Amino acid sequence: MQSTMQDGPLTITSILRHGAAIHADSEVVTFDGRDTQRTLFGGVAERAARLAAALQRLGLKPGDRIGTLCWNTREHLEAYLAIPCMGAVLHTLNLRLFPDQLAYIIQHAGDRVILAEASLLPLLKPLVPRLKSVERIIVIGDGDMSGFENALAYEDLLDAETGNFDWPELDERSASSMCYTTGTTGNPKGVVYSHRSTYLHSMAICMASVFGVGSTDRILLIVPMFHANAWGLPYSGWLAGSDLLLPGRHLQAEPLCRLIEKERPTFSAAVPTILNDLCQYAGSHASDLSSFRTVAAGGAAVPPHLIRDFQDRFGVRIIQAWGMTETSPLGAVAQPPRDCPPEEEMIWRSKTGRVAPGVELRIVDGEREVPWDGLSIGEIEVRGPWVTGSYYREAAPERFHAGWLRTGDVGTIDSRGYIQISDRAKDIIKSGGEWISSVELENKLMSHPDVAEASVIGIPDERWDERPLACLVLKAGSRVTVDELRAFLSDKVARWWIPERWSFLLEIPKTSVGKFDKKALRARNLEGTLTIAISEGGAAGPSQD
Ligand code: AMP
Repeated sequence: MQSTMQDGPLTITSILRHGAAIHADSEVVTFDGRDTQRTLFGGVAERAARLAAALQRLGLKPGDRIGTLCWNTREHLEAYLAIPCMGAVLHTLNLRLFPDQLAYIIQHAGDRVILAEASLLPLLKPLVPRLKSVERIIVIGDGDMSGFENALAYEDLLDAETGNFDWPELDERSASSMCYTTGTTGNPKGVVYSHRSTYLHSMAICMASVFGVGSTDRILLIVPMFHANAWGLPYSGWLAGSDLLLPGRHLQAEPLCRLIEKERPTFSAAVPTILNDLCQYAGSHASDLSSFRTVAAGGAAVPPHLIRDFQDRFGVRIIQAWGMTETSPLGAVAQPPRDCPPEEEMIWRSKTGRVAPGVELRIVDGEREVPWDGLSIGEIEVRGPWVTGSYYREAAPERFHAGWLRTGDVGTIDSRGYIQISDRAKDIIKSGGEWISSVELENKLMSHPDVAEASVIGIPDERWDERPLACLVLKAGSRVTVDELRAFLSDKVARWWIPERWSFLLEIPKTSVGKFDKKALRARNLEGTLTIAISEGGAAGPSQD
């Protein structure tokens, strides 16, 4: 039997139209480090129409890839709206990639045009001879355009058009945008989103059991728009009519705190490393963070002490979320269950997340799905309407399993659908035949008052195969010793988990999206450039615990 419902396509165009018509007076605020520039949704929609008209006049057609090399700004939002809605494909370029990787993804995607902020042109300049597919660079803002033939100024292009672009009717399954994974091994892999996947994902982000984004929110978009669609928040915020506060390149704690105090956001999303900096800075400068109702944290394990610190010191509720570029990125959100007494909130919020509506998740050990008992460990596999079913022009069969995406994350799931990630499959440490969770060791170490950052990697060991090496950054002025740190861990983890090898650094290397870069730490260990203190204090294998 057929339904009698109408069958309108689920497109970003309908998101654009809704926000522009219903929330024309919500605002987009871009921060330049000192001042803010404000435009209402109605004005942004008009500028998006001009951009689409200009791109069409340049000969861009449906399906063409258009790259963006931008921070979080109004112009980037205009590209988020104009490019998919004219039928082209928005390719957000991660400006922190190594030059070779940046050149690789531009070529692999076949970008015909790149919209680049003038201040970022120096990143592109050395790559120009290799970018064979790129016909034009459109430059946003003022800057030195020498070395770029065929460069055009963004504002000139918009000035030459009217705001009456006739948006085409699109197939909801056509490509809207693409993003490459920041893959720590091999070349980055391209994930192509559709209008439909983006539409459904945007609705899910607005659900109360996810982030509950609504028209009374002012969203401070810290997570970059070049990483996993900024967690879908530009589209969800537009759909819901939330004000969007865009901090540009000013992601350090000091300017962020100024922006927060001035603009009073209610919601934000960021990786734990940025939130850690924010917490330390706001604490020592008595910054006012009271405007936040919730801050979503994810992209890497969120240390429970960070969640507690934000709550106790600033009354800010951190909600942990899990996802990946491949999952648009929403996968799971750690909203506490409905019967949770207030004193137990923190336990639930410290979990990795509860499976989000629309996502199916299972944990697999080999071919066997493990029980939902919160104990059995395996690799997390997911599927759903905003989970990728393949990579762009790369087969990668090892990443899929009977229609499920293999996430490479290892963890457990309990009877209510809360997952707990113990590690990336490649980061988990196998010592004496048993597993040590690097994430758990890091969380425990970062709960020590003298530790600013902790990253634990497995290194080869003759007797136990692998042992943990703890790489730490101490807080300024700290004099804590290895023995004190070992004693601190002794009632928190199994005795044989406690590292013997310790390395104290000025900074943990970070990946292009701000996560601890364990690959770089492993490489430094292999090169012998880490100074390692050894403490032969204890047992090093499970058999001796
Ligand atoms: P990306 O595609 O760069 O967003 O990276 C996705 C990966 O980040 C996931 O596969 C996880 O390994 C990691 N990740 C994201 N969120 C979390 C979280 N809340 N806890 C632990 N790991 C996370």
